[in-house]
Amino acid sequence: MKEGNNKNNNNNKLKFSPYWVYAVIITILLGMSMFGGDGSWQSISKTNISDFERYLNEGDVEQVIVVNQKLAKVTLNSYGLEKSVHKSIKSKNILGQENTGGPHYEFEVGNLELFQRKLEQAEDKGIQFRYEFMTVENRWMDVILGFLPIIIIIGVWIFLMRRMSGGGAGGPGGQIFNIGKSKAKLFDQNTEVKTTFKDVAGLEGAKEEIQEIVDFLKNPKKYTVLGGKIPKGALLVGSPGTGKTLLAKAVAGEAKVPFFSLSGSDFVEMFVGVGASRVRDLFKQAKDKSPAIIFIDEIDAIGRARGKNNFTGSNDERENTLNQLLTEMDGFGTDTNVIVLAATNRSDVLDKALMRAGRFDRQIYVDLPDLNERREIFKVHLKPLKSVKSLDVEFLSKQTPGFSGADIANVCNEAALIAARKNRKSVGKQDFLDAVDRIVGGLEKKNKIVTPEEKKTIAFHEAGHATVSWLLEHAAPLVKVTIVPRGQSLGAAWYLPEERMIVRTEQMLDEMCAALGGRAAEKIMFNKISTGALSDLEKVTRQARAMVSIYGLNDTLGNITYYDSTGQMENSFTKPYSEKTAQVIDKEISDIIERQYKRACDLLKKNKNKLMQLAERLLEKEVIFKDDLFNILGERPYDVKPDKKEDGKDGVKVAVN
Ligand code: ADP
Ligand code: ZN
Repeated sequence: MKEGNNKNNNNNKLKFSPYWVYAVIITILLGMSMFGGDGSWQSISKTNISDFERYLNEGDVEQVIVVNQKLAKVTLNSYGLEKSVHKSIKSKNILGQENTGGPHYEFEVGNLELFQRKLEQAEDKGIQFRYEFMTVENRWMDVILGFLPIIIIIGVWIFLMRRMSGGGAGGPGGQIFNIGKSKAKLFDQNTEVKTTFKDVAGLEGAKEEIQEIVDFLKNPKKYTVLGGKIPKGALLVGSPGTGKTLLAKAVAGEAKVPFFSLSGSDFVEMFVGVGASRVRDLFKQAKDKSPAIIFIDEIDAIGRARGKNNFTGSNDERENTLNQLLTEMDGFGTDTNVIVLAATNRSDVLDKALMRAGRFDRQIYVDLPDLNERREIFKVHLKPLKSVKSLDVEFLSKQTPGFSGADIANVCNEAALIAARKNRKSVGKQDFLDAVDRIVGGLEKKNKIVTPEEKKTIAFHEAGHATVSWLLEHAAPLVKVTIVPRGQSLGAAWYLPEERMIVRTEQMLDEMCAALGGRAAEKIMFNKISTGALSDLEKVTRQARAMVSIYGLNDTLGNITYYDSTGQMENSFTKPYSEKTAQVIDKEISDIIERQYKRACDLLKKNKNKLMQLAERLLEKEVIFKDDLFNILGERPYDVKPDKKEDGKDGVKVAVN
């Protein structure tokens, strides 16, 4: 989600557009074909061959011209013009002027020979008139028709070019001639968007670091006087939606300098050399406006490590672009006062050359917000909403662990929409909770067709998750279990996980056991298992693999990790371990999972009664909360202080299926 961008662009004066040219050409073509090629601007009365014979015999006609052997144009003589039958033709002219010069009538001659004979007969009778045969070519039409195929081909070509270059991102641009121009959006004093640090909630650490950059831009002298060099770039690293763009914009807003914003993928085009030329153009523009900030979002699109696993050679263009970027960053002196900010969520895959001193030598981490930061972000985004006075922001931030700033902005907006749909006067707590559910789980699908049989399976599956996690010490406590289909899932158990930094082996094992509780319940109740546990299995397998091969939590393998933080092994065909170790890893992973599955089965067998009660309650009510669990399952065996849990652990996480 990006902030609203410069609205000014839209209400510019009538812009010159290539479409005007097309319009003018078409008008000219139409005009020419309408008025024919003879340049006659008179409008001529229609008549027919028998009337014409009468006029001819009465001696009204001065001249007949047969054009292209088809059309006869008749001019009357002064005697004829006096007659009342011809009165109507006199003021026949586009401008309303009298048509004295003629031609006055026209008609289709039909059979030419017959017509010619009639004219000769009249001549023989001694009637005074002239006649003439004439061929008129509409030259323009012929020329244009001749060129038409070429015109069409050129038209199609231009159209394709425009499409490929993204359809006019800048000014009249986007055309083939502008393809090498940078597509950066410029925000400066003239644009209305004024983002400041006030709009960025939380992120105190990042803000502090970035404050320095604002200082550099505001008074560069202060730093250069002592011989220091102003950094040229900073890299903002963090998951999507954590406010990196927002932060960069705030820097520009605080320092009051122009801000060029574009995405790494904007450089990438199917033509060779375009990316590099766009980089050049971008830096040139920025230098002209310095002091300025260039912000490149998703820099990993061009900044990935070069020359590795490049089997196809298809990445040459990206490399050229990256090289150009490096050259430009080296090229401008510290006195240029252009600072490049770039954002990525994968700093590990970036080319090391980007991180070298004098380039993006600063890295600023922008993490997902914690509880307090989420509260601050909620406050920012609640401001424009009409929410009920008693709204508990603290509670909302507890319900949204793992949400990014963008997610929270989304929750607020969604809640307002939900409230509006229900015709409420203000946005209430339930609307926010519905919005959270919807964002985590997708839209409720009340009318999704589920057979009673399936419903029963789902109920037992979810009840299995609920029972197992209730009975395990380290599994996250449940808040709600539902069998209402939502998004892709058919049912869900919602947990309140702790936000913890490190996870111990027991905690991981308990979580895996709870995740397998669904399938275990199906097995115990129906002695059948179903495909419904796919996402559970996926999660468990990933976790087990991580335990063994990443975190070194497995006794057989010991303190070893095969994780590669540089991301260089990602596309490699070789594994960092031997074939024999691979077999051990596979065996350990499967052992861990089977052990936990068995544990879940045993737990459920012991508590089969409770499991059945819970499933029945679920079938009856579709959604059940902690109170029901409490009534059926009793006190959680490991909850030391049930009320402490409410504060210490926060938020809801959903386990689907
Ligand atoms: P990123 O660039 O990291 O993907 P953005 O900066 O585009 O994320 O953030 C998207 C939106 O999320 C912002 O426009 C803003 O509305 C909201 N947002 C994200 N982080 C914050 C924050 N810390 N404070 C306030 N709003 C935030
Ligand atoms: Zn499940």
